[in-house]
Amino acid sequence: MANKALFDMDQEDARARYAALIKEIEKHDLLYHQQDSPEISDAAYDALRNELEALEKQYPELKTDQSPSAKVGAAPAKGFRKVRHKVPMLSLSNVFTEEEFFEFRERVLNFLNLDKDHDLEILAEPKVDGLSCSLRYENRQFVQAATRGDGYEGEDITENVKTITDVPKSLPKDAPDILEVRGEIYMRRGDFMALNQKQEEEGKQVFANPRNAAAGSVRQLNAEITKSRPIHLFGYALGEVSTPFAKTQKEIRDKLSAWGFSLPEPSYVGKGPKEALKYYTEIEKERSDLPYEIDGIVYKVNDLALQERLGFVSRAPRWATAHKFPAEKAVTVLKDIDIQVGRTGVLTPVARLEPISVGGVVVSNATLHNKDEIERKDIRIGDHVIIQRAGDVIPQVLGFVEEKRKKGAKKYIFPDHCPVCNSLAIREEGEVAVRCTGGLICDAQVVERLKHFISRNAFDIEGMGTKVIEAFWADGLIKAPADIFTLEKRDKNSLTPIRARDGWGEQSAKNLFESINARRDIELNRFIYALGIRQIGEATAKRLAASYGMLEALQSAMQAAQDHESEAYQDLLNIEDIGPSVADDLIGFFAEPHNIDVLNDLTAELSIKPYDAPDMEDSPVAGKTVVFTGTLETLSRAEAKAKAESLGAKVAGSVSKKTDYVVAGADAGSKLKKAKELGVNVLSEQEWIDLISV
Ligand code: AMP
Repeated sequence: MANKALFDMDQEDARARYAALIKEIEKHDLLYHQQDSPEISDAAYDALRNELEALEKQYPELKTDQSPSAKVGAAPAKGFRKVRHKVPMLSLSNVFTEEEFFEFRERVLNFLNLDKDHDLEILAEPKVDGLSCSLRYENRQFVQAATRGDGYEGEDITENVKTITDVPKSLPKDAPDILEVRGEIYMRRGDFMALNQKQEEEGKQVFANPRNAAAGSVRQLNAEITKSRPIHLFGYALGEVSTPFAKTQKEIRDKLSAWGFSLPEPSYVGKGPKEALKYYTEIEKERSDLPYEIDGIVYKVNDLALQERLGFVSRAPRWATAHKFPAEKAVTVLKDIDIQVGRTGVLTPVARLEPISVGGVVVSNATLHNKDEIERKDIRIGDHVIIQRAGDVIPQVLGFVEEKRKKGAKKYIFPDHCPVCNSLAIREEGEVAVRCTGGLICDAQVVERLKHFISRNAFDIEGMGTKVIEAFWADGLIKAPADIFTLEKRDKNSLTPIRARDGWGEQSAKNLFESINARRDIELNRFIYALGIRQIGEATAKRLAASYGMLEALQSAMQAAQDHESEAYQDLLNIEDIGPSVADDLIGFFAEPHNIDVLNDLTAELSIKPYDAPDMEDSPVAGKTVVFTGTLETLSRAEAKAKAESLGAKVAGSVSKKTDYVVAGADAGSKLKKAKELGVNVLSEQEWIDLISV
């Protein structure tokens, strides 16, 4: 039923609304605490709870012991405040095999221009399965704790972390004035079992695994609950530091330990890759005896100066990787195969399974990848299938159990029409994916594009998750991206306003409009990424934003680049990592009149800010275009490019009038010649290093 104002509710209405609210709150509690995947913002959740409490005040007879308000006691504080990380909190790349570990090591050595037999010192330690956290100390006093969030902005969990006994609240005199310690909040296995037992006895929700229990315990609006939960913290890395105090990762560990932090143990430091792998095998054997859950080990280049040079790529450091334990497998029945249609029209087969626990997590869906994979593995509906789950990766179907196949099981026929819009589904040459040709007439593609548009690394609108998009789309409130920004205006005159929808209220609707309005100012790179153009991920969107500076410039360049002989096309190909196929997708996007309509509608609502490249202040090469050619002596090509980009320069693949510098190593050939012809500034490797070190 609709959310009527309190005063015009009769007893009957109130009872129904009360029951609906409890159901709704319990659903979100489950998503939030147990699955750690909330669908609504904290603010929207608060609004539900406030409404529940207001109803209870007015109609005390409704209140039972089962009321969510009785379980928490005090009214929850407002939603978590956001905290901007001074140094981003990164993720980790993964390796699953020894071979991949050797490849990781080789990549590091290549980047550093060191030869294969170099004695690279590696530190390794267990990878604890919990929730990462950043702790900030100012003048040696604990002042703030934050979750990782999207790596750049997390939630303020200071009050909750204060209750963790093994987090030092003050540090000794030798600690720097500003210090950020990164660590993992976790729950011990024994404590987790005891907590679940208690929860069960009290009729409360039980947690799926220690990680969820730890995460659910920390992300509590009421810190009293956190206090009652047995959670711990291991320190393993640093964020912002005012005065450096260590030269190696090992020294960081030693200092953290001396300052009162617990560390993941045992650790290892050594030079031989084989020894590092031996450590991995030993930890794997000890794994089940450890009092806490680990999902692998982490290798880190020990020397911090090398770490600094290696830097990071996209969202993970180049100097570390996680060696994950092998995947867990299980056999269950394949009940059906559903076809999902993604934002670019790709048809992805999803296995619907008889739910089964794989390594402590209940799995009921798994990916079947694509048409070829189903055919190659000859998977049929009704089969007993082998599924595998590795870490956070989506579970996959490996194959079927032959002895258990039922007689008459039919070969699976992959659809040749889109299950959503019924357009022809075809496979383009050289591609594995079967794609729906419906484009904008395909509802699935439109909805998926909208979901992408509001996703975390795109517009990131708080309170507007995938469920909200689906519901608003189904009711015709949002059909195209720009509709998001006209929602408030239209809502004012609507006979069925958002605040009257099920699960919404005055406050939550207001909050939604506020968070939409907060995104009217958007950086160009996020905007480009949000458009969901094929093959344009975050990194390429950043490069495009850095190269073109403004949307109008990008748009007119893409129109000019339709002519492959044009300078605009050459300029596009000159951008790092843009080859002919990516270029075609981009040019194709800007050539479609309906995409231009989408852009015009959006720009009427938004103010698009130029991309703010990192470390641009004081950078002597910010905005400059650089071409590297020939063999560099001290830097590897990869390091040279990465460094240039981190200083705000654009790295191009060929020389043109627009090139600012050509850095020429030994045996430079045609590019050097062209630079001289065009009068472009040519630098030796040393001159380049001098230029960027000022
Ligand atoms: P992932 O969650 O797969 O992106 O892996 C990266 C996360 O592993 C980090 O954000 C940390 O939360 C976590 N982690 C656990 N133990 C360690 C460790 N010893 N060193 C670094 N990261 C760790």
